[in-house]
Amino acid sequence: MPDSQADGATPVRVRFCPSPTGDPHVGMLRTALFNWAFARHTGGTFVFRIEDTDAQRDSEESYQALIYALRWLGLDWDEGPEVGGDHGPYRQSQRGDIYRDVADQLIAGGYTYECFCTADELSQRRELARKEGRESGYDGHCRELSADQIAAYRAEGRSYVVRFKMPTKDWEWTDLVRGPVIFKSEFVPDFALIRANGDPLYTLVNPVDDALMGITHVLRGEDLLSSTPRQLALHGALVELGIGSGAIPEYGHLPYVMGEGNKKLSKRDPTSSFSNYPKQGFVREGLANYLALLGWSLGGDREFFSLDEMAQAFEISRVNASPAKFDIKKCTAINADWIRALDPDDVAERLIPFLIEAGALPPEPTDAQRAMVHTATPLVTERMQTLTQSVGMLGFLFAGQPGCNTFAIDSVDVALVQAPEARPVLEAAVIVLSHLNTWDLASIQDSLRAALIDEMGIKPKLAFTPLRVAITGRRVSPPLFESMELLGRDETLARLASA
Ligand code: GLU
Ligand code: ZN
Repeated sequence: MPDSQADGATPVRVRFCPSPTGDPHVGMLRTALFNWAFARHTGGTFVFRIEDTDAQRDSEESYQALIYALRWLGLDWDEGPEVGGDHGPYRQSQRGDIYRDVADQLIAGGYTYECFCTADELSQRRELARKEGRESGYDGHCRELSADQIAAYRAEGRSYVVRFKMPTKDWEWTDLVRGPVIFKSEFVPDFALIRANGDPLYTLVNPVDDALMGITHVLRGEDLLSSTPRQLALHGALVELGIGSGAIPEYGHLPYVMGEGNKKLSKRDPTSSFSNYPKQGFVREGLANYLALLGWSLGGDREFFSLDEMAQAFEISRVNASPAKFDIKKCTAINADWIRALDPDDVAERLIPFLIEAGALPPEPTDAQRAMVHTATPLVTERMQTLTQSVGMLGFLFAGQPGCNTFAIDSVDVALVQAPEARPVLEAAVIVLSHLNTWDLASIQDSLRAALIDEMGIKPKLAFTPLRVAITGRRVSPPLFESMELLGRDETLARLASA
């Protein structure tokens, strides 16, 4: 039976609620993964919500990219866009009426006030507070305006934002990741809920939706830590008004994901962009596995595990509060482990699009070509860290066939076949191989070893490297004899001869 379920009574409901701006950041997908794992571990519900209330910055393209990213990683959601659910709609851009209604109740309940301060006034007072060494957040200027002052501001034609009256108290909670956290009252000033143009702000809609959607646990990035006191206060008001589930969620803040120079992994750093990973030939299992390691571990020294294993084992108490470094080398190494662990036929199918994309295969490969990829894949999985690397290693098999790239020797490795010592090796190989009765692995291997190593006395490396380059076009390739076998006698001899 799941053991992390909050108190055994309330089923867990967690949410992933990104804003659709730009390319999904890997840190954001780490947040999605941890929420998913917690929901799956506890038999709870994983809600996916789109926080698209900023029409200036949000884009449909980014929304689609988020959907794609979760699907690609294998993070299925129980409620949200495209799957629906009882608490929809799940795009905030479609929930305007709900926010207006809640805002009206907050205003009527006396939880808010109208703030007429202009941006200039705010910044002047902020400056002054800084000079005098006081807290520089909003100073409560409009909190106790008289009816006359309000009338005067209105007559001036000033617009206003709706601010929430923060109760004067310190804000304390036991963070699921960080343990006890406290914010002193003076650091959490009254905050705006509604813009001057009437649009609701993140500060309103995020907790309102958490309340209405019955969210029990909020797991999100540490960058949002300072917004938690405000959200706790608003949740308090919603509970008093009888809006939502009546319970305030527990909060857990996942550690920062750091990039180069011990700074937060920047959006500008290409390693932060999810879309690069599928393109560069990462497998979903590898990337998901690596994202899990950004602040969590399975226990022991185990760093290689599947999503299912993660879900089985996921405890928030094992999430580490200290920053996690995004190490692309390690990510790539885990990916390589996964390529080796997957069923080679599965890997072969995933390789084919990359081979097509690179022109190593035609857009519609023949059955024979597909079969060849399947046969050759087990020969190269040990040598590949990403699927894209298969292009260089397998392209030689099809080079020269209709619709495929022509055969070319790698410009760096070409010296290896042009060296004077290579010539006798290539010539001897042509003679031996053209006399073979059967073209199979054992015959190719035995005859070449006998002729080149035993009779001519050449060291294996010196004998076989030029052959490998002549046949496959490069030094890093599938094993030589297997490559010759797959390529067939005619093509093998032709390539040796032309080298
Ligand atoms: N839309 C917010 C963000 O992307 C969500 C914050 C939260 O998880 O509460 O930063
Ligand atoms: Zn004001």
